[in-house]
Amino acid sequence: MKGICKLCLQDSELQQSHIIPRSYFKRLKKEDGKIIVIQEGNKSITGNFDPKEPMLCRKCEQFLSINYEHYGIRVLRDHKNFRKNSNHIIIASFQYEKFYLYLISILWRASIAKHVHYDSVQGTEGLDDLLRYCVAERTVRINKKSGLRLDHFIRISIFRMVDSTGNISDEVIKVLLSNFVQTRDDTTNGIKWYFIVEGFIVFYHFFVGRDLHEIRSFKLISQLTKGSHQKIMKAEINQSKILTELFNSMIEASKQED
Ligand SMILES: [Zn+2]
Repeated sequence: MKGICKLCLQDSELQQSHIIPRSYFKRLKKEDGKIIVIQEGNKSITGNFDPKEPMLCRKCEQFLSINYEHYGIRVLRDHKNFRKNSNHIIIASFQYEKFYLYLISILWRASIAKHVHYDSVQGTEGLDDLLRYCVAERTVRINKKSGLRLDHFIRISIFRMVDSTGNISDEVIKVLLSNFVQTRDDTTNGIKWYFIVEGFIVFYHFFVGRDLHEIRSFKLISQLTKGSHQKIMKAEINQSKILTELFNSMIEASKQED
């Protein structure tokens, strides 16, 4: 299909683009994983959910794959690179900007996607364009002069989901994938999006601080930060409202399947 590529904005032959990278779906199929579709408070499980739509030209598909996905997918998958502790893991040789922008590239695609499963991400045109700019230019710097950065406004925090009670086995937790959810964020009074992938839950917190000082100094638990190591906290499923609800409804849904 001919159209305007959403990344380079050139008139081109558009590919069927994935919103969430294809590699995650491949892995799910191989390991008989589950996909959770969350919509308007309802959660369901499905085996065949692989939404794609005409979005990017071939060159931009390649660009995302080479610059972001090769690295981004490996970060959460390469367990040899993890240092495991009781309540957190440390990811070594971490490339902050690359990984941050990788996750932004997924949020951006979800935001501009027309597919009904990504309805929940409703950015604004201005925000979409800003995300596009940062992904295309491979930078978190919004404005060279002012020193403003995208990560002053969109912070990303990641948790490894665990269940010490043993109710839900780690094998099950590790092969889940969800679509995006958008909610209000009470901590920051902003907007929060999240999705689940390969044992992790990724939160995007969008808010604008009161002043430059607050913008620069505010930090969330388990937030991605600059540095060669990244600490990822574990989140007990039964201690998080979001996760408890999510997993309870998953268990309900799988009962109905039987
Ligand atoms: Zn393009």
